[in-house]
Amino acid sequence: MSSTLTGAPVSPGRAAGVVVTMPAPVPEPATTRLPADQVDDAVDRLAAAARTVQERLTEQAGRVTGTASEVLSVTAAMAGDPTLAAEAERRVREDALSPERAVWEAAGGLAAQLEALGPPLSERSRDVRDVRDRIVAELTGARPPGVPEPGHPFVLVADDLAPADTASLDPETVVGVVTIGGGPTSHTAILTRSLGIPAVVAVAGAGDLRDGETVLVDGGAGSVVRDPDPDAVAAARHRDSARREFDGHGRTADGVPVQLMANVADPDGARAAAEAGAEGVGLFRTEFCFLGRAAEPSVAEQVNAYRRVLGAFPGKRVVVRTLDAGADKPLGFVTADDEPNPALGVRGLRTAGRHPDVLDRQLRAIAEAAAAEDAEVWVMAPMVATPGEARDFVAACAAHGLSQAGVMVEVPAAAIRSRSVFEHAAFGSLGTNDLIQYTMAADRVLGELAALSTPWQPAVLELVRATCEGAAAHDRPVGVCGEAASDPALAPVLVGLGVTSLSMTIRALGDVAAVLAATTSDECAELARLACDQPDAESARAAVRGKLHDVLDELAL
Ligand code: PEP
Ligand code: MG
Repeated sequence: MSSTLTGAPVSPGRAAGVVVTMPAPVPEPATTRLPADQVDDAVDRLAAAARTVQERLTEQAGRVTGTASEVLSVTAAMAGDPTLAAEAERRVREDALSPERAVWEAAGGLAAQLEALGPPLSERSRDVRDVRDRIVAELTGARPPGVPEPGHPFVLVADDLAPADTASLDPETVVGVVTIGGGPTSHTAILTRSLGIPAVVAVAGAGDLRDGETVLVDGGAGSVVRDPDPDAVAAARHRDSARREFDGHGRTADGVPVQLMANVADPDGARAAAEAGAEGVGLFRTEFCFLGRAAEPSVAEQVNAYRRVLGAFPGKRVVVRTLDAGADKPLGFVTADDEPNPALGVRGLRTAGRHPDVLDRQLRAIAEAAAAEDAEVWVMAPMVATPGEARDFVAACAAHGLSQAGVMVEVPAAAIRSRSVFEHAAFGSLGTNDLIQYTMAADRVLGELAALSTPWQPAVLELVRATCEGAAAHDRPVGVCGEAASDPALAPVLVGLGVTSLSMTIRALGDVAAVLAATTSDECAELARLACDQPDAESARAAVRGKLHDVLDELAL
């Protein structure tokens, strides 16, 4: 008999497959003391194991691109971290610990230090423990942590996934992901979505799933069906083998255009987006040019980097977001690391108050890159809260000849005072990831708050509506570039609230286009009213999905 587990839907699509669970955690090595004559050999073995782990991760990083590659590279670098190596070696030499015990203790100390620093650095402690487990497994011959390779397609079930695990997921074999922990904007969520793997996180009862049983994962509905109906399994398998293409023209069933664009974080991503038929780039995250750097890149270097993205979209729009440093994206040379509450601190456009020269040089670089390429360049600032900030940003852009200057709306204040903000801004782009976080007072990376952190919250939808109404008073377009834009069932609601473009991970383009093409603009408006009338997020989602049932069912979403 079928039974259904529910969780937070984070990556849409249906997939059926047999469960394979993540390997049990690597056991803590016992405290054994080495005889003096084995110490040198132990130090060598320790160094060799760390090197092997680093090489393996580097090799995996080379097999993938974009965010996945970055995450694996960061973990690989951590395996080669001299602080960790030196501390582990010290424990072998001074305390005569076995190499596996030494690395266990050294990594534990480092992880505890990171945790004491609070977010976002505390999130790194997970990578440290992941590296520790890999080195211990290498030393002891234990089953290594990481995604299993059973030799057939499967649904991966885990407590939670380390960033490096998520980054190494192969969509050809991992057909679905189910986790007990995790949140809607966790690494697991963002990466499974960009890989197009249906995923449900924060699933109560997922710990009972057993290797070998068949489940149906519905990443749109947030459900995991045990012992599913064979017809549903067959339909999901069929769907899995045919990813929906996008014809390059987003529109509703009655022909109202809705531009479907891509979120892009680097030149590789831009090329892939152009190949996928994206109508442009709705969010070009420029941080890739800055992150991991001790100093600001020169204007010439920035021009080069931006041109490689703009060059992929001749004649099309590319919305360039200026540097969004701080909070989940700390950057040594612009953000302070001693803020007690970084999500509410000097981040996004606010860093320009402290470093106006950094923004000025970036705008100069964007203007130069725009002049050298044929893309239609729009520029927007992250974390704008007041009309005055919008005015100053637009003026700073104008000084560089950048006439299409807009704002991200991701702070509730900007949504509520939208009419005043759009007196200055030429366009708006709703950053729903942060808008949800600030509206619901729920940290966007905290799995425990997954139920609050969803764009289906009627309060968030009301802010989307308020933003669009204020912008419409000045005839300004508003798009969505947060993760909300990749939810095919939410797309008609956003359009009904007044949004005219959606920017998303390229995997979602075909599905979002298909749902819009099956829904008229009047139906979109009605779905928007229906969602806003509900008392909570779960009923809003259920009500809209209920109305769209035939469309979603037909498209297996
Ligand atoms: C957002 O907040 O929705 C957004 C698109 O920006 P980021 O996720 O980069 O903060
Ligand atoms: Mg944001």
